[in-house]
Amino acid sequence: MHGTPCGFRLEDVSVQFGSTPALTDISLTIGAGEAVGLVGPSGSGKSTLLRVMNGMVRPASGRVHVSGDELGSISRRALRRVRATIGFVHQELNLIPNLRVAQNVLAGRLGSQGLLPSMRGMLFPSKQVIANAYAVLERVGIPEKLFERTDTLSGGQQQRVAVARALFQRPAALLADEPVSSVDPARARDTVSLLTGISTEQGLTLCASLHNLDLAREFFPRLIGLRAGRIVFDAKASEIGEAEFHALYDLAAAEMMADGA
Ligand code: ADP
Repeated sequence: MHGTPCGFRLEDVSVQFGSTPALTDISLTIGAGEAVGLVGPSGSGKSTLLRVMNGMVRPASGRVHVSGDELGSISRRALRRVRATIGFVHQELNLIPNLRVAQNVLAGRLGSQGLLPSMRGMLFPSKQVIANAYAVLERVGIPEKLFERTDTLSGGQQQRVAVARALFQRPAALLADEPVSSVDPARARDTVSLLTGISTEQGLTLCASLHNLDLAREFFPRLIGLRAGRIVFDAKASEIGEAEFHALYDLAAAEMMADGA
């Protein structure tokens, strides 16, 4: 269900929106097949970091490597090709409500095929393509919804459609931006468990931003904590304790940690 997993390497990446620094001197490596949770308060830069990783946002300085490609120094065509290999689950899901679930899933190939072939494929899909869409919906637990109108599905089911659409493009990595914020807490657990389960079983690189530190700690082997656009910690989930938690939400504790106190 995916291509060869890709890794990411960021070197001294900074992003500025007008006078607001969104990310400052971010350096990190995410290995192929690794699952990483990004945690931090609202506005800490999680979403921007994910967008930098798939080339949607260009850093003001620093370099972003996706496997062998440095995104700032490749052609626009090559950048489009890299972006087509990265599945992105947006917070707002970006599904077209009045289309069938199958058509939204098929839209996952838009990036890799060009607009016209994708539109044709969406409107007149072959049996094989429908079978592939069914397979990804089966993996996310809602195969019976294949021909339902998307807006008749619950919030949690629509989230699964968004995950299925990302998987349908056979991604080399999956990035998910707050995949749980739009659903209730019980469903939130299901979605995180689904994403990390897929990553583990397929060896697919996963990086997801999460508000809920407990969920992040439970499901991700490694967590990166962001605060005000900087990395506050990057550690195994089992090593994240109260001090790291406070560092995210309490400036005094963050300063103490930085001082080595
Ligand atoms: P998070 O995902 O952790 O909530 P974001 O990456 O969305 O954080 O935002 C980081 C900072 O960058 C915030 O101060 C936010 O207001 C700002 N920001 C993000 N996107 C934009 C944008 N498109 N234009 C201007 N400022 C932005």
